[in-house]
Amino acid sequence: MIEDRKYKRQRADLITDLRRKGISDERVLKALGAVARHAFIDDAFLPRAYKDEALPIGLDQTISQPFTVAYQTMLLDPQPDERILEIGTGSGYQAAVLCEMGVRVFTIERLQTLFQRSSALLPRLGYRAVCRLGDGTQGWEAVAPFDGIIVTAGTAEIPDQLLAQLRTPDNGLPGGRLIIPVGDRDSQKMWRITRKGQDEFDSEETEGFRFVPLIPDS
Ligand code: SAH
Repeated sequence: MIEDRKYKRQRADLITDLRRKGISDERVLKALGAVARHAFIDDAFLPRAYKDEALPIGLDQTISQPFTVAYQTMLLDPQPDERILEIGTGSGYQAAVLCEMGVRVFTIERLQTLFQRSSALLPRLGYRAVCRLGDGTQGWEAVAPFDGIIVTAGTAEIPDQLLAQLRTPDNGLPGGRLIIPVGDRDSQKMWRITRKGQDEFDSEETEGFRFVPLIPDS
């Protein structure tokens, strides 16, 4: 109980910090303010759970920095009941943030240990994301198309499969959008690509970031 109160206060401070850094979407701030980030990390890092920093989750992977999660989610602008695909489940934290926003979340992780951990943890915390073990560069054909796809690992090239699995505009609804960090190993720019028609896409390049790499299965 006392622990909970401590984390609640730290979480509120994190939200103040994110607001100061330019995150202005109230729905996103509310979602990050609701997710217990400390539940997604190893006990050794508990004192840093609500600092705005990436933390190791094993196997050379990281739980993304809260600012990055907030920024990507803000660009994605997910609406309740939309179908969103996440590539790179990792700890499950980003998936939980999307669940808090009332989204139908599908998420893929390629490393079995992380898949097992996050696919057990999310339901335990009350989050209903559909988790899958596999190579996310192929998307998830069987449950496509998606209103949005969010990639949480850096890549040099945008996988065609992901573009193909974005919803086409329909009945006044705008097309699906892809949020993806693109660049070399050391730095990436965040891209938002919106599907405008069968073969037509709009792309916008935004801030610079540094992600762990997206690795296709060989
Ligand atoms: N969204 C995560 C961040 C995880 S870091 C979180 O909130 O914690 C990126 C993750 O992408 C790692 O877990 C890594 O194993 C995974 N990944 C890398 N390449 C992948 C691929 N081709 N398909 C699916 N997951 C991949």
